[in-house]
Amino acid sequence: MKKRSRRRRKNIFVPIVVLIFCCIFTAMVAYGWQSRKKNVKVADSSKNANETVEVNQSETSSDGEINAISESETDTTAETTTVPASNPGPDEKVVYFTFDDGPWTGTPRLLDILDQYNIKACFFVTAQYMDTEPLINMLKQIKDRGHNVAVHSLTHNYKQIYASVDAFMADYDAMDDLIFKATGQHSTMLRFPGGSNAGYNKAIRPQLLQAVRDRGIVYFDWNSFDGDVEGKRGQELIDQTIKQVNENTHSILLMHDMPNTAFVHDALPTIIERLQADGYKFELLNENTPPKQFAK
Ligand SMILES: [Zn+2]
Repeated sequence: MKKRSRRRRKNIFVPIVVLIFCCIFTAMVAYGWQSRKKNVKVADSSKNANETVEVNQSETSSDGEINAISESETDTTAETTTVPASNPGPDEKVVYFTFDDGPWTGTPRLLDILDQYNIKACFFVTAQYMDTEPLINMLKQIKDRGHNVAVHSLTHNYKQIYASVDAFMADYDAMDDLIFKATGQHSTMLRFPGGSNAGYNKAIRPQLLQAVRDRGIVYFDWNSFDGDVEGKRGQELIDQTIKQVNENTHSILLMHDMPNTAFVHDALPTIIERLQADGYKFELLNENTPPKQFAK
């Protein structure tokens, strides 16, 4: 009897030990999973804390916050160095939009389209289409919306402006005065009406170009053209523009901003989207941009 009861106890003892062991193991596994989850939670909240510190950096002062500030300073420096300078790299596809002959009452529509795509352009302006006061207001609006305003010509009268170097410079200064009144800055850039090699300026060309250079003015011709004043319209205008811009890695694109080329506005969104698809970036022409000059 004694022997049998001892064996029975032994039989009960083994499953109990196994059961206890299982319980302990299950508890350990459960605890381990919970604590891992806790760690993840801590990591998440510390990430949030860092973000908060960076946002409020100017109001805080602990070591962690100082690190966050110096990190963001490093980021800013990196950004500054990676932002393309005014002169893009030789393989970087860049197009500079330039609009000649305006402004006029339709110019705000053009500005709206450019705003829509966040594109800044250079406007080579005249006084052909507006009276002095609205003209000054319009020039100011163009500048205030981030574009450059430079001289094309006050009168755009070829015979008059190319009669002599003095006549040209008088016309230039009159337009520049209006730009100065509108923007508080003098123009440093010029686009010659008809281009620097215009037939009308042939007799005075070397002296004219020298006089302009002596004044520290940079003149810009173009290497692509939308064909707007040559009778191109709609799809034809779009196709010519895309073709000509694609012939250059750095394209200075000539378009016109005047009442009888208002159809350019309709074509512009398609032109912009196709150039974007072709990998072009839109840069603002400025006095440091390498110029295209037909005559030197
Ligand atoms: Zn013109």
